[in-house]
Amino acid sequence: MADTSFDIVVIGSGPGGYVCAIRAAQLGFKVAIVEKQYLGGICLNWGCIPTKALLRSAEIFHYMEHAKDYGLSAQGVGFDPKAVVQRSRGVAKRLSDGVAFLMKKNRIAVIWGEAVIDAPGRLTVKASKVEAPKGALGAGSYQAKHIIVATGARPRALPGLEGDGKLVWTYFEAMKPDKMPKSLLVIGSGAIGIEFASFYRTLGADVTVVEVLPQILPVEDAEIQTFARKQFEKQGIKILTGAKVTKLDKKADSVVATIDDGKGGTKTMEVDRVISAVGVVGNIEGIGLEKLGVKTDRGTIVIDGLCRTNVPGIYAIGDVAGPPMLAHKAEHEGVICVEGIKGLNPHPLDKRLIPGCTYCQPQIASVGLTEAKAKELKYDVRVGRFPFIGNGKAIALGEDQGITKVVFDRKTGQLLGAHMAGAEVTELIQGFVVAMNLETTEEELMHTVFPHPTLSETMKEAVLDAYGRVLNI
Ligand SMILES: Cc1cc2nc3c(=O)[nH]c(=O)nc-3n(C[C@H](O)[C@H](O)[C@H](O)COP(=O)(O)OP(=O)(O)OC[C@H]3O[C@@H](n4cnc5c(N)ncnc54)[C@H](O)[C@@H]3O)c2cc1C
Repeated sequence: MADTSFDIVVIGSGPGGYVCAIRAAQLGFKVAIVEKQYLGGICLNWGCIPTKALLRSAEIFHYMEHAKDYGLSAQGVGFDPKAVVQRSRGVAKRLSDGVAFLMKKNRIAVIWGEAVIDAPGRLTVKASKVEAPKGALGAGSYQAKHIIVATGARPRALPGLEGDGKLVWTYFEAMKPDKMPKSLLVIGSGAIGIEFASFYRTLGADVTVVEVLPQILPVEDAEIQTFARKQFEKQGIKILTGAKVTKLDKKADSVVATIDDGKGGTKTMEVDRVISAVGVVGNIEGIGLEKLGVKTDRGTIVIDGLCRTNVPGIYAIGDVAGPPMLAHKAEHEGVICVEGIKGLNPHPLDKRLIPGCTYCQPQIASVGLTEAKAKELKYDVRVGRFPFIGNGKAIALGEDQGITKVVFDRKTGQLLGAHMAGAEVTELIQGFVVAMNLETTEEELMHTVFPHPTLSETMKEAVLDAYGRVLNI
């Protein structure tokens, strides 16, 4: 008979859940993971990974169109939307299969179905309509000393602006369009909205982004927002900020959107498709939380620094446990959670040190406090900047549009935040993340040797600039 009793059962196999299960297995726990539809969760199947695959196709298309700038020629440059989507789906499948392999390698039981917690220590798994992977356990009752909720999030649906699967898309449909829209309205300018805007614009769609807040990319530093906006507008993306889509009238194969411009005016706009990218909400319903009395707040589960809920034996990690709703935050919480259960006293997560990346053109990346936030917290700040036009590698790459900005505490020299826009900054930001984790000061950064020629030299130059010692500009 199949085993039904475990030390730890994780509900949901996204980056939070599956990483948590692996770390738990490493620590010697007997572990199972429950999943109802796709191993790897949103991240691997409908989020981080497939979007990056789409954006890579768009990026290469862009370079091919600009081959002449590099002394090259490319005739008949075009794209096959089906093949672009197919490649992205293939990448997602490869990674999802990889999670199945990792579960097997780490001797983690996969239970296929939808989990409901009956009581601390007990859960029921209902059969899933989606075909189970080979070797998975099925529906039934299971026991676990510790139950970790990692059920993720889903698209937020604003009344009247909900996705309909055909004309008004959420990220699910935007990820695998049946055809390329000629015109597109993106509601919301967070990372998801901006990445899709960038993808569709690069492939030729007429794209408009509407954002209710005064600036796009609302969590980023004001200078980065302004810089990014200028770059997007140069590419032909139309951006309306402080504006609100109030109505969507659906026609046979188009949508007429009514937009309140925030200045007392209203306009309408007819587009082929709309992407509703107004955020995500935690999957807290239908898993038994209400009955158990697990505390939730504004659609997410309330946890402490070690991912414990108010009910002993029940934990939560990842998107369902609140912002920032990012894969690396989910993974890190998964590790902290089981190390806490093991009694290893892990460091609670410092949310200030979680980097955020948007993989548009130019890329955006940041960690720590924005200049405005640092000032709001009463820091006396010292700010440095360096533009990519002063960087040899950026010019050699043909990527001279970018900026690196750093914010220091004038009193202690502590690096409080770093903000970047430009080529490959999503790879570069980790340098600042490590520095901040090590509580680096300006002195140490200025003594660090950066390789030449690299885009990373903009990071050192920005630090030098903060202290009046910038060299190459
Ligand atoms: C378009 C898009 C792009 C993104 N890009 C990035 C990015 O570049 N970088 C980044 O860091 N983040 C990105 N994100 C966010 C990222 O995908 C999430 O932060 C991440 O997936 C959260 O992981 P998770 O483990 O908490 O949950 P999820 O990945 O959502 O996984 C939850 C899993 O739980 C399962 N589940 C739910 N309820 C039950 C139940 N009752 N029983 C069994 N199984 C259940 C679901 O089927 C799902 O597989 C993106 C998101 C989207 C939508």
